Amino acid sequence: MLITGATLADGRVRDVRIGDDGRIDAVAEGLDADAGERVLEARGRHLLPGAVDVHVHFREPGGSHKETWRSGSRSAAAGGVTTVVDQPNTSPPTVDGDAFDEKAALAAESLVDYGINGGVTADWDPESLFDRPLFALGEVFLADSTGDMGIDADLFADALDEASARDAPVTVHAEDATLFDDDALDGDLGGVGTAATADAWSAYRAADAEVAAVERALAAAADRDAQVHVAHTSTPEAVDAVKETREGGAAATCEVTPHHLYLSRERARSLGTFGRMNPPLRSEERREALFARLAAGDVDVVATDHAPHTVEEKRRGLVDAPSGVPGVETLYPLLLESVRTGELSLERVRDVVAANPAEIFGLDRKGRVAEGRDADLVLVDTADPREIEAAALHSACAWTPFEGLRGVFPEVTLVRGEVVYERDPATGAASFGEPVGRNVRES
Ligand SMILES: [Zn+2]
Repeated sequence: MLITGATLADGRVRDVRIGDDGRIDAVAEGLDADAGERVLEARGRHLLPGAVDVHVHFREPGGSHKETWRSGSRSAAAGGVTTVVDQPNTSPPTVDGDAFDEKAALAAESLVDYGINGGVTADWDPESLFDRPLFALGEVFLADSTGDMGIDADLFADALDEASARDAPVTVHAEDATLFDDDALDGDLGGVGTAATADAWSAYRAADAEVAAVERALAAAADRDAQVHVAHTSTPEAVDAVKETREGGAAATCEVTPHHLYLSRERARSLGTFGRMNPPLRSEERREALFARLAAGDVDVVATDHAPHTVEEKRRGLVDAPSGVPGVETLYPLLLESVRTGELSLERVRDVVAANPAEIFGLDRKGRVAEGRDADLVLVDTADPREIEAAALHSACAWTPFEGLRGVFPEVTLVRGEVVYERDPATGAASFGEPVGRNVRES
């Protein structure tokens, strides 16, 4: 395939040729089409590297009514995400080799490339896990009281030792449950869709509980020379703590989610339990401070923590509703809309969704539009936003916390040169390719 006249993130206009091996053969001016080659005319549009979303929960095995590898990866492809990394809190949890194999068999349905993280519980089996083509350890739930996968400092230290002995990164979910404010959940929380419920969850899982746990995780990792990646930092304080640790020479990086960048307690009052996630939404003041750090280059990665649940499940009331929101399809669109409105540079967005995650996690063939890299590409008209509406998205959960915001959506998404998603700009009709996704640690 030859893509002609595309504008790259840095503003250069280039032709891009994709070889039969699915890699980028050439990025140059004035390339001529060979006989029989498909030509994609891209003048006036941007060609960006596919996003590497290092934090998704595609729910299989065990939660197929919420999402499947097929539906989740369609949603990813339609949003310009060409690699996803799945987290281990599935059923069974991915804590040993057999569980890894079960998940890997299901991931054969994926339209996009993927990694599978290994989890840590009291029952985990590092020997058999690391015997598999594992992406990383994570999401390791340090001192998190929710779910079945919360672990204490001793087990966290063991996990860091096992990972560092094998040069594997550790992604950590850091919230100290001993610092949660239980009183916040007392009394009348006002049902599913009210400001009282949204505020209560944020007050309960206090910002201090995140900051304290992030600092402990960073110190433990630095002590052991382990590479640590802090998932979904929701506070500017935690982003600053990661930055300081890295400046001290340790291998520490952070990730921020779109919901913590675009939603706050004040902005999302009507979401109620649909805005319940961990860590929770913060104040508008903290959201603005987080966004400013993204714009300034202090955020390493934006990843989604795509964690779909059904509408019925989210309506169970504040205490019983499960935590998590979908987001894999709206990651690039939300950030590209911020480029259109002048809040972010296009190069910054390219770096935090593609180049940086590829580099941090050692994906040498992902994350850049350059010769020799995989042709994981997104073609998009960056001047053409539309309103985000759940009905037009592809996750099986059928709702979005970003309803009504604007996003700039891809027209075409390629994975190693194969078209996995295409949208007719005139009619909006979408079509999908076949599952071509591969484990990025095997290719
Ligand atoms: Zn997560």
